[in-house]
Amino acid sequence: MAEDTGRFITQTDCTLEVAVFAPLRQTFSYRCKTPPPPTGTRVRVPFGRGHRIGIVVGYGLEPAGTTLKDIDAILDDEPLLTPALQSLLHFGASYYQHPLGEVWATALPALLCRGRPLTSGEAPRYACNEPSPDAATRLGPRQTALLQLLREAGPLGRQELPAALRPALPSLLARGWLRAEDAPAPVLDLQSSPHALHPEQRDAVTALRAARDFSVFLLDGVTGSGKTEVYLETARSHLEAGQQVLFLVPEIGLTPQLLERCRARFGSAVVASYHSGQSEAQRLRVWQGARSGRIRLIVGTRSALFLPLARPALIVVDEEHDPSFKQQSGWLYSARDLAIRRAQLESIPIVLGSATPSLESLHNAHIGKYRHLRLRQRATAMNLPPMTILPMRRRLLQAGLSVDLLQACTQTLEAGHQVLLFLNRRGYAPALLCHDCGSALFCPRCSAPMTWHRQAGRLRCHHCGHEEGHPRQCPQCASVDLRPVGAGTEQLEDYLGQRFPGVPVLRIDRDCITQTGQLEAVLAQVHHSGPAILIGTQMLAKGHHFPRVTLVGIVNVDQSLFSADFRATERLAQTVLQVAGRAGRGSVPGRALLQSHVPEHPLLALLQAGDYTAIAQHLLEERRVARLPPFRALALLRAEAHRLDRVQSFLAAAAERAPSGLEISGPFPSLLERRAGFHRAELWLEAARRSELQRALKHWLTQLGTRPESRRVRWVVDVDPLNF
Ligand code: ADP
Ligand code: ZN
Ligand code: ZN
Repeated sequence: MAEDTGRFITQTDCTLEVAVFAPLRQTFSYRCKTPPPPTGTRVRVPFGRGHRIGIVVGYGLEPAGTTLKDIDAILDDEPLLTPALQSLLHFGASYYQHPLGEVWATALPALLCRGRPLTSGEAPRYACNEPSPDAATRLGPRQTALLQLLREAGPLGRQELPAALRPALPSLLARGWLRAEDAPAPVLDLQSSPHALHPEQRDAVTALRAARDFSVFLLDGVTGSGKTEVYLETARSHLEAGQQVLFLVPEIGLTPQLLERCRARFGSAVVASYHSGQSEAQRLRVWQGARSGRIRLIVGTRSALFLPLARPALIVVDEEHDPSFKQQSGWLYSARDLAIRRAQLESIPIVLGSATPSLESLHNAHIGKYRHLRLRQRATAMNLPPMTILPMRRRLLQAGLSVDLLQACTQTLEAGHQVLLFLNRRGYAPALLCHDCGSALFCPRCSAPMTWHRQAGRLRCHHCGHEEGHPRQCPQCASVDLRPVGAGTEQLEDYLGQRFPGVPVLRIDRDCITQTGQLEAVLAQVHHSGPAILIGTQMLAKGHHFPRVTLVGIVNVDQSLFSADFRATERLAQTVLQVAGRAGRGSVPGRALLQSHVPEHPLLALLQAGDYTAIAQHLLEERRVARLPPFRALALLRAEAHRLDRVQSFLAAAAERAPSGLEISGPFPSLLERRAGFHRAELWLEAARRSELQRALKHWLTQLGTRPESRRVRWVVDVDPLNF
């Protein structure tokens, strides 16, 4: 209560602070003549010449001498989100320096942002009232038939009624013949693990079940070590106690298999998924079910983190190392990191699981912030596949494949098994090169060559989406001898199809898997087929089981060894071990072959030993010496504009006014210097701790926003950046 004016706030002079659903840094004040609604409630407010929906995020006193507009309407009787979840959004806006209104809009289902009323989300069931009212009134034939049906069959939902009888519902309800009842709570059908847990799994489950308050666990277990069994057994005890569990996975493609496993174990009525592949109506239903507590376990991607939960007990972040947990446009939050914050605000435990934990999480485990749980052995009898480096220097390469790798493919297929080839490059070839003058065909709008997609007959830029047909001649020297250089997945598919006629060659990448359901269809085909070759990008590396794959070939590791991105080596190690982990999950042992032009590279020796712990130790030491995350907190100020001088002068002005406590370096050109016609550069902002970084940034950015230079560029701050 405000005391300084000598008055208490009364309802007439209270103003509401409203975050409207728009990308605006500030919140807006409105007057409210009725008793003020609680924070977290939607209101409709006059805005510019129209109206907007926003969220009440705070209160103030009406400043003297100004006239504020009144709000139009209060849309909810109660806050949409619990105080803990509201705090999470406020924290997330402030930590990632993003407008609060947009943060709320990201966190809520779109239909709620557009003003859809809040309901329980459960379809009611209709039952007859006894004794019937007004027995003397005459009913029509449809009404009579409906009453008779409900008397005989008991309460039914609208969907269960014959369509012809549904129009009789409103009048019978209005006149008291029928009443609407809430649907009964769906039943749990809990099954315990079909396996006897191994001692390490048992210890992990015991530790997790014992945790009641906030604590972070890192479940560090090789692929196939039974991490999912640990999550499920822990979840089971919380579900039994009437509580809810939230499962986060990095990609939509990983939801179906986990959803299936959860449904089989806990009953399909209480388990739901939540991701961007669903319709808005579906998402709202799940949101409401989670909020009411009817849905007990949710498997979802990033945005599921913001689902309201009536009785949360546990959050699981599977494949926690996966960069997909970081949003790449708009609000640049990390769902993994905010999940930890949420667990803290809700006072519940959280498990981060991975076969190849991020260096950040490992570091936190080393310094005792996280509890480190380890599963060292595969759950089934199969060992991890041994890894061998295949030197490529001076070898004959066909479609990027060495004779040794091709021979291994032949052997594997002849033995009746399947081959998986990993290549993180879509398209036929990453560039078209002029054989006469040596120039590559660059995207006219980006500083990168275009990828040749032969099946589509198009050159495509993977950075901006620009595409064009095959040019008749070299734009530099008019030569017609343009040749594809390097190999992409399409070329592998092409070549292997010719080389192994009769063997199915299945490609899995974003060009051929464009709709939900397609991936499952291909995966099912793989499971049912005999000898086959699978070719894929990152999409293949994640979480899927391929019991018949006994040979994994990693076509090219060299790009990552020499990348300017300081995270490239960590990613390489994670990808290689994850991909290799797809092999030998069935009854036959597998092996993994890595092609490289620099077989003597020290990281490859570590990879060959297959020991992620040792690799991570090595990489962490490199980061410590180079003063990089997780040993320092890092943010980037990125700017782009059509004119390079504007980018430079903005970043230079920003660097000059940088607050003390931040270490600034740059401006540096971005890894991709030009994209979609924009010149791009960045400042690196560092501090010893994340909290220091956050404090320093806040004030500085507000100032920056008012400078004239800032209006001539597009700029954004990326806190804890993952993608360069
Ligand atoms: P992860 O999540 O670590 O990859 P999963 O939990 O999916 O591992 O387990 C891998 C495979 O091993 C699955 O087929 C699972 O059913 C099986 N499995 C898990 N735990 C056990 C166990 N204790 N005994 C036998 N098989 C197990
Ligand atoms: Zn040329
Ligand atoms: Zn481009």
